[in-house]
Amino acid sequence: MGKINVATDTYLVGMGVSPGIAIGKVNLIDQRPLVDQSLINGSEVDAEISRFQQAIDQAREQLQKIKKTVSKQPHLREHLYILDTHLLILEDEMLVEGTKKEIRALVNVEGALTRVLEKLRALFDSIDDEYLRERRSDVDAVGDRLLRILMGVSERNIDKIGSSSIVVAHDLSPAETIQMDRSHVLGFITGKGGRTSHTAILARSLDIPAVVGLESITAMVVDGMTAIVDGFSGVVILKPSEKTLQEYLIHKQSYDCLEQDLEQYRDLPSITKDQVHIPLRGNLEISSDVIQIKKHAAEGIGLYRTEFLYLGRSAPPDEEEQFQSYCEILKQAEGDPVTIRTLDIGGDKFVPELNLDDEANPAMGLRAIRFSLHEEQLFKIQLRAILRASSCGRVRILFPMISGVAEIRACKKMLGDIQAQLDKEGISYDPDLAIGIMIETPSAVMIAPLLAKEVDFFSVGTNDLIQYFLAVDRGNEHVAYLYDPLHPAILRALKMTCDAANEAGIEVCICGEMAGEPLYALVLVGLGFHELSMNPACVPRVKRVLRQVSKQDGATLVKQLLLLSTSKEVSTIIEAEMRRRLPAIFAQPPIQ
Ligand code: PEP
Ligand code: MG
Repeated sequence: MGKINVATDTYLVGMGVSPGIAIGKVNLIDQRPLVDQSLINGSEVDAEISRFQQAIDQAREQLQKIKKTVSKQPHLREHLYILDTHLLILEDEMLVEGTKKEIRALVNVEGALTRVLEKLRALFDSIDDEYLRERRSDVDAVGDRLLRILMGVSERNIDKIGSSSIVVAHDLSPAETIQMDRSHVLGFITGKGGRTSHTAILARSLDIPAVVGLESITAMVVDGMTAIVDGFSGVVILKPSEKTLQEYLIHKQSYDCLEQDLEQYRDLPSITKDQVHIPLRGNLEISSDVIQIKKHAAEGIGLYRTEFLYLGRSAPPDEEEQFQSYCEILKQAEGDPVTIRTLDIGGDKFVPELNLDDEANPAMGLRAIRFSLHEEQLFKIQLRAILRASSCGRVRILFPMISGVAEIRACKKMLGDIQAQLDKEGISYDPDLAIGIMIETPSAVMIAPLLAKEVDFFSVGTNDLIQYFLAVDRGNEHVAYLYDPLHPAILRALKMTCDAANEAGIEVCICGEMAGEPLYALVLVGLGFHELSMNPACVPRVKRVLRQVSKQDGATLVKQLLLLSTSKEVSTIIEAEMRRRLPAIFAQPPIQ
């Protein structure tokens, strides 16, 4: 494959799926082998079938060997099932007999296997169940292994990765990911994958920074090239200049130093010096990530983005599936609150399966609550599932992107109707279920006092709030320099929202990315937020700051910030203030 020329300081933005910063040399895991497909004659059939059988035996031996190594590492044992799945696939009738059948139709073994793998992939693609559908990557991995053996291409030398490596691959199979020597791998970058990919899940549980979804990455790097992986923001920098390298080294150092003594904060309460309890909750995208919530001792879930349940499938999940899924999460939350946000699709969150029309301005189109109120039937199914789940634990329901009172009233009316229906059917639910709205639009901020009369809590989604307030597309790299959480307009918007909630006596939480930034913790508490919800990995870092500051000091700082005219002035004061108060944590200014 031709290589793309890469200039110094090439910034790429993918999806940060495992937090942390890694700086190292690229170790490119090579591409799939090019398969040599040809026709054979009848006399060659037996020999080809026997080659196939030998390849299966060899693959089995390889997998058994990896299993043995992995089972010696306690933190990886829970992933052994992946290897068992691969061993089972090797025995699958469709794979084994299907390939033999193709060989008998006079196709060489590589060609025969490739055809069968294609059929299997198509089958997996048509499965409704997300978990099962994801097992397609396991079929791919087994297929690759067999093809490599058949073609005499050595195993991708995962276990021979050089020290201090940033592993780059188009895709990594789960077996490969767990085989890698953790002490050599500093970070992952892959071309494929999303938050639910095995690479992402494993990288999180191995605590290795990872960025996925950078499609052309394998064509851009060569072995030995320097790369920076920022698993928080999803930024990857290839061939960093000396200046960038130094900046990131400082950033990494302060991150590492922060990490070192974080463990001691895990089981301490999140209380400020003036004894205000600020629950730090986790944001959840896929149910299996509840493990992260527990691992970092987040106090329940402040935002469950349910749209992830609807992604990548041919039909939306029905009531029963949603109910089961919510109950499972509630069970694992063990009495802590779980804030279930109703479907937020449209805008940048496109679900092709729901056949949304193309819109000229999707971010301002039929998105989030607008979509749900438009697709009443779909919405009702979700509301019923959430209400039913509310009898299994502490559920709070959250409606996204509310822009006016009429919308929340419409939601409450539908909830009321469904409650009446459930009463009639004798199905239990929590009658005191807390109802909240996301504050993400300028209009919601402006009428926050009116909205506060309608609901039990606000949750501020700064990711969208900043986009809509500053008229900056949150996904457009050309205007990213304008996307500014410390813009005086944003500070005012947050203040107005908190004031309205506090005056009405309702809870106000923040669940956008801003909440997970330790530098902002004092400001957010000073503004009057009662709860912060974030990527669970950020919880200990924010807690460490909160325990060393007071809400009163935060309020004083906010007063000072509100007098400033530019975000530069705001950030300078916040950084100086935090460095003064907590020099060990904020020794150096973070990179913008
Ligand atoms: C937000 O907009 O800040 C938010 C939390 O919601 P999402 O990122 O899912 O749009
Ligand atoms: Mg949002």
